[in-house]
Parts: sequence; C-alpha cells; structure tokens
Amino acid sequence: MTRKILMHVGPETLDYDVLLAGVKGDVGFTSKEFVDAMSYSLKFLRKLMGADESYQPFIIPGGGTSAMESVTSLLKRGDKVLVVTNGVFGNRWLDIFSRYPLEVKAIRAKAGYYVKPEEVEEEVKKGIYTMLTLTHVETSTGVREPVKEVIDRVRDYVDLIVVDGVSSVGAEEVKAKDWKVDVYLTASQKAIGAPPGAGLLVLSQKALKMLSDDSVAGYYLNLKNWIGVMQAMESGKASYFSTPPVHLIFMIKRAFEMIEAEGLENRIKRHELVASAIRRGIEAMGLEIVAKTPEAYSNTVTGVMLKRANPAEVLSLSISEGIEFAPGVHPDLAGKYFRIGHMGWVNMNDVISAIAVLERVLKRLGEPIKLGEGVRAVQELLAS
Ligand code: PMP
Repeated sequence: MTRKILMHVGPETLDYDVLLAGVKGDVGFTSKEFVDAMSYSLKFLRKLMGADESYQPFIIPGGGTSAMESVTSLLKRGDKVLVVTNGVFGNRWLDIFSRYPLEVKAIRAKAGYYVKPEEVEEEVKKGIYTMLTLTHVETSTGVREPVKEVIDRVRDYVDLIVVDGVSSVGAEEVKAKDWKVDVYLTASQKAIGAPPGAGLLVLSQKALKMLSDDSVAGYYLNLKNWIGVMQAMESGKASYFSTPPVHLIFMIKRAFEMIEAEGLENRIKRHELVASAIRRGIEAMGLEIVAKTPEAYSNTVTGVMLKRANPAEVLSLSISEGIEFAPGVHPDLAGKYFRIGHMGWVNMNDVISAIAVLERVLKRLGEPIKLGEGVRAVQELLAS
C-alpha cells in the first residue's frame, strides 16, 4: 500500500498545496521572491503567536530544539533558570541548559499530569530566577500546561518567561502579548503544517534587550547573529548570516496563507473538535487516555494506554493498514502506550479512519476492546 495517513506527532500528513509551494528550481536566497516569502512569513508569525509589532519574529534553521537552544542567547554565566517539566520535552530544556554555565532547577510532574500553577508560584517567589521555561503541550504524554494561569501567578517574580509551543502553536490558543510571554517558540512540522526544518520564535522587547555579546550562547544559534537578517528580510531587503532553508520557507509561507484563509480561530476549533472526537472514540472502545484529567487534554496529541497489546505491534500493524501513529516515548510508561498526533491539516475523515484502524488492529492483537463502539461514538458526535 502506498497511500497512508500520517498521524505521528510531526510531521503529519501534509497538504499538497504546501508541498508544491516548495517545488522551485531556480530561487536563491537573495531573490525578491524569497525575500517576499520570508517577509510575509515573519509578519504572519506575529499573528500566529498573538504578538504585536513590539515582538521580533525569527525563523531559523533546525526545528523545535534549535529554537529552544537559541534562548541561551538571553542568558549570562551563572544565571538561574527554572524548568517546569511534564515529560520528555520539558526535560529537553534541562539537557540543553546543562551544556551551559547556568544554574538550573526543575519542577517535575508525573507522567500524565502537569505541574500545578501554585507549585510554580511558590518556587518563583524566591525571586532568584532570570528565566522560567514552560512546555505548553508536552508531546510525550499529550498533557497541556495551563500556561496563562501559571504566568498570571509568576509574571512579577521572574525576568523572562519562555514557552515551548511546539505542539500548540496553530492549534491551541496562544497569546504571547496578552499573557506577557517573552519568548514563544514552535517548529515548522507541527500544527503549522509544513515539513520539518525550521524553528520559529517571537521575542518581546524585554527579551531583545537581554541579547548581548556576554551571553552564554555559541555561534549558530545565537539570535544576535540572526536578528539583523530577520529585520532586513521583513523590510524587503536580502541579507545573510547563514543560508536559510529556502524551499522550506516557501512551504511555510503557503501554510501561513492557508492558515490565514482558514482563520486562526476556526483552525483552533477544528483541532478542538478533532481532538475531542479522537478521545471519544478511544474511550468508547474501552481504552484509557494518558492525560489524567480533562483540563490536561490537548488539541494536538493523545496518548493511549494499552492493557494487553504491545504498542510496537499496534504501530506496525496500523502502518500496514494505512495509518502511521507515534510510539510512546515517556520512560515511565515504556511499553504501555502509544500516541496519536492530530494537528496541521487533520480532518474528521482522518479521525474516523484512525479509530476504525485501531479497532481492528487492537482486536487482532487481543486487546479487550468493544469493536465498532469507537467508530459509532465518533459518528454520533459528528452527526449531532
Ligand atoms: N518541544 C516539543 C514540545 C516537541 O514536541 C518537540 C518535538 N517533538 C520538540 C520540542 C523538539 O522539536 P524538534 O524535534 O523539531 O527539534
């Protein structure tokens, strides 16, 4: 079978219009066509992040991790950073910061839970932190952190608030300006619906003032080296620090145009509806979701607990039935779950297909599920 639905956690099945936008054989990074694409994309990134003109947008090569590591451009030797982590991608901040001369402390949640705003408040009130990092949606479990609530409690006690929106931007409400976030970041392959290869972020004025030659950042991911390029490109002038992912930028631009046409609010609603339909189907089958409480459910990722079946077999059989899901990666739940990614261009027919494939695959693998009940529940939701 050659045709399949990709419901991994990014990249996901791509829209052909997005892909075709990258089919260009003769465009250089100083061409007007490229500079225009970059300019449009940088401007639209502000809207996507709920930022205003005071925020500086960046689109840099790499992905979520390069965007994450680039925030070291705002830190100096000995700075204290507080990492709020709900799983594997929250822990990635610890791995990154441990490579730099910084003092790092973590507040952790158990798999399936999120760190409560009051816990963050208590720690941050010590008043010693230069930076706080939050992960909006923890992709390893599908758990959403109530970032606005956390920030409301801690804004006055920490200099910089950084939110990893890799699994949220384009699918969840994101309001960088209203929530007073200093850095909101994402990656091209997630809910934006473009191929992998770029990290996208916006920086507040306060964050921009912290960029300095004394930061702990290295060379390539030092935002001080990229800012001039971003400002020149946005104003329509070609500029160079390091070669940008030219063809990817055309695809990002097309994805942004399509998001603009869909309307950001409609896009978030679509993701909400898709996510609730997925959960309805999973629960009706008789399976449990990894996120422990409804307010922790995300619009983009659903972790599914298995009682009997081996997740690796579920994934490989599902691929042979035409749908690729994602493995579980949280070490505390190893061998007990898998993940469904539902972001980007995902629609209701994908949901029906996903639930139908899972029902027959799980039935064959001896998982105690109610065959047909998942699909019925989704259909009832859609027909109502
Ligand atoms: N943060 C989150 C929440 C993620 O889901 C991911 C990727 N799954 C990353 C960071 C890292 O992004 P990338 O793989 O593009 O480097």
